[in-house]
Amino acid sequence: METVTLTGRLYGKEVDVEVPVYGRCPLCGGWVYASSPKAYGCTNFPKNKCPLTIWKEYGGLLLPEEAVEDLLARGETDRLDGFVTRDGSRRYSARLRLEAGRVAFIRGESAPGKATAPEDE
Ligand SMILES: [Zn+2]
Repeated sequence: METVTLTGRLYGKEVDVEVPVYGRCPLCGGWVYASSPKAYGCTNFPKNKCPLTIWKEYGGLLLPEEAVEDLLARGETDRLDGFVTRDGSRRYSARLRLEAGRVAFIRGESAPGKATAPEDE
């Protein structure tokens, strides 16, 4: 996995931190990295407030790192197993895609029956 060096501040001093990156931001060309314990974000955010956000969890499924890479490289993932309906009663599989820097479920592909996709956030 590639890494980039980010400069942050710690105790008033500039420090360089090397972070693994998952691909290029489709919105602004920055690098996408684990910007918080719950999400991936864009390295350009401090400069341009880039809105790209990929949460680490959707529909009860912790996204595999390959899925994050697929979203950035291709704009969508392969079919992922292990999503859970909101009431927890049923598991389903689905594909995700990236739309304007946000992750959305690809509708109409879930089987069997109707999948209840969770809220985006
Ligand atoms: Zn960006």
